[in-house]
Amino acid sequence: MINLETPRKHRTLVDQAHQVAMNMLRPISRKYDREEHAYPQELDLLAAMIDGLSESGSAEGAGASGVRRDEAEDDSGGVRNGANLASVMSIAEMCWGDTGLLLSMPRQGLGNSAIASVATPEQQERYAGTWAAMAITEPSTGSDSASISTTARLDGDEYVINGEKIYVTSGERADSVVVWATLDKSLGRAAIKSFVVRKDNPGMKVERLEHKLGIRASDTAAITFTDCRVPAEDLLGSPDIDVKQGFAGAMATFDNTRPLVAAMAVGCARASLDLTRDLLEQAGVEIDYDRPAQVQSAAAATFLRLEADWEGAQLLTMQAAWMADNRRPNSLEASMAKAKAGRVGSDITLSCVQLAGSLGYSEVELLEKWSRDSKILDIFEGTQQIQLLIVARRLLGLTSAQLR
Ligand SMILES: Cc1cc2nc3c(=O)[nH]c(=O)nc-3n(C[C@H](O)[C@H](O)[C@H](O)COP(=O)(O)OP(=O)(O)OC[C@H]3O[C@@H](n4cnc5c(N)ncnc54)[C@H](O)[C@@H]3O)c2cc1C
Repeated sequence: MINLETPRKHRTLVDQAHQVAMNMLRPISRKYDREEHAYPQELDLLAAMIDGLSESGSAEGAGASGVRRDEAEDDSGGVRNGANLASVMSIAEMCWGDTGLLLSMPRQGLGNSAIASVATPEQQERYAGTWAAMAITEPSTGSDSASISTTARLDGDEYVINGEKIYVTSGERADSVVVWATLDKSLGRAAIKSFVVRKDNPGMKVERLEHKLGIRASDTAAITFTDCRVPAEDLLGSPDIDVKQGFAGAMATFDNTRPLVAAMAVGCARASLDLTRDLLEQAGVEIDYDRPAQVQSAAAATFLRLEADWEGAQLLTMQAAWMADNRRPNSLEASMAKAKAGRVGSDITLSCVQLAGSLGYSEVELLEKWSRDSKILDIFEGTQQIQLLIVARRLLGLTSAQLR
């Protein structure tokens, strides 16, 4: 049976993440929301602390780079609460502090989880300590990631990459970008591979940074690749085009990153609920967990409904991560967690603005900011609609060609 309480071995990490969120992220949250595109230098110190904890082994899975598919066997033969679970729990705590700042944490990019998911052991070692962004989306390709048109052509012992990627989180600040490109478009999705492209590569150019509704502390870049030459050993995983395996290799990344994004929504929504509960109590609204919602005030009943939704999202997120730790296929659960947390995250944060009235809408509190920040979590790493499509396909046993 799965026990979804915080495992004892992760409690210290979760507590530390909460302290960091409260004492280091919250105080600079509004500043970097206003100063979009300014680099949050305070994060350098924080990243150095996390590096130190990771090296000492006391911060297993303290961020996006912690996720794994192929951890060494657990000798105990029992269930394992490993790096995936640690990552989702610490990320939720950090996003209780600030989602945009979490997304800007050096060396904790979504590209780092891609590397952790599909790189060979030799590559894992070579890329240790890098900060990697993730570039899939193109001007003509968003949700349908199998139809990307960026190309990679082998020329001697290098690949030559050509194409354009947009909406790359940390695309300007990261040291490298994990780029999805096709080796041969006529072979379909099986030919899509990912490449680690270093920032100093002369063929790669950051064209612009976007202005956004939320997560303004995080930079979002449009990047072009023009005859961008990368060493052949920077193709992640195997260069073979296995038509039978299809897209599975590249998609494995999502099984690890979707629970992380769900965790961000869980953390941001929790922040809104905690503050709203305080504001309601100050206004004299009593929330009684021992009485049915329908006999309480409308505000209390709404709050109880939001908390129930939050709990569903949190449990699904922990389940998806726990399954990855225990090497059980979790594509279905990862999409369920992302769909539920993305949707209720937006609903909760916006409903909290409503419950707090004009105070919720004003910049006096962070409620309005959290409602803006949470929206992206229902869009990137696969939108709400795409997650539901994946869940439906898995439950009905249909292929992507049969249900689109
Ligand atoms: C702030 C920000 C950061 C981002 N960071 C990254 C990043 O780091 N790396 C990266 O590669 N990308 C990133 N993205 C891009 C993001 O992943 C895409 O925006 C997302 O995949 C959706 O693609 P799209 O915007 O082209 O929308 P589209 O795919 O055009 O979809 C538009 C709408 O149609 C719906 N829709 C599409 N297909 C279907 C279908 N078959 N059935 C039902 N509904 C459907 C979608 O759900 C959506 O509501 C980021 C985007 C933003 C805004």
